[in-house]
Amino acid sequence: KKVADRYLKREVLGEGTYGVVYKAIDTQTGQTVAIKKIRLGKHKEGVNFTALREIKLLKELQYPHIIELIDSFPHKENLHLVFEFMETDLESVIRDRNIFLSPGDIKSYIQMTLNGLMFCHKKWVLHRDMKPNNLLIGSNGQLKLADFGLARIFGSPDRRFTHQVFARWYRAPELLFGTKQYGSGVDVWAAACIFAELLLRRPFLQGSSDIDQLGKIFAALGTPSPSQWPDMVYLPDYVEYQYVPAPPLRSLFPMASDDALDLLSKMFTYDPKVRISAQQAYFTSVPLPTDPDKLPRPT
Ligand code: ADP
Repeated sequence: KKVADRYLKREVLGEGTYGVVYKAIDTQTGQTVAIKKIRLGKHKEGVNFTALREIKLLKELQYPHIIELIDSFPHKENLHLVFEFMETDLESVIRDRNIFLSPGDIKSYIQMTLNGLMFCHKKWVLHRDMKPNNLLIGSNGQLKLADFGLARIFGSPDRRFTHQVFARWYRAPELLFGTKQYGSGVDVWAAACIFAELLLRRPFLQGSSDIDQLGKIFAALGTPSPSQWPDMVYLPDYVEYQYVPAPPLRSLFPMASDDALDLLSKMFTYDPKVRISAQQAYFTSVPLPTDPDKLPRPT
């Protein structure tokens, strides 16, 4: 069946945060695409309008490490977003036990992630929902950030529609303390969690609730002192935690190279004002990041 006289629908790729995702063929270009159908609901005419305007801005966000939004249109009660089709995602890579990731491979994935973040943050767009399955990988090994800006446009993802309730594991401490004025630092924290996950081959901080998430963060990285993060005590949901000293990061990541560990610790800085920005974050020594088309991928 053709959608908008242009896209030939194929199989369902999956159920995402906002709705179903289909594989389709763009009959105008012959290109394979992924169409994300977003439920807008009956009472959200206003959202519909704002969303469309915001989506227009996302279409301008063109960069090698950002997934391309090819087209968007409302159809019945859904908004359809057409993206370039991607072969796999970072979660599949991390979970694939047949894949060995060298330090250079990990650098490459993280560098492409930070690169995409840098571009968006420069344009004042936040991702807000960074997690390994939102980092898509193309047939040439290029990693691209997906779902950029959607969290802001459509509000916090409605977790009822998805089994993916794990985004908590990537949430920055300021969000867990209920800050209302967060910035690009939340994406950098999430990228740090993904970095750690690439090194460990399992999610780093697996909280079972928001409170537990903070507990996991503090247990792994030590409790932040007010001198380390002066604004912390003024955050809406701030509660005092029992002091935990910061163990050396090295003890948690015995296999990581020195420069990887150095960058990781700067990304895991508690105070979002001090946390390294995506633009400042890069690797400084050998091994060099692996060429994307030489990265291992699931078969
Ligand atoms: P979530 O909201 O949980 O992150 P998504 O809505 O992004 O999930 O995606 C749902 C499913 O569709 C996932 O299995 C994902 O792999 C697939 N998918 C999403 N975007 C694309 C794309 N551009 N190319 C190929 N598959 C995609």
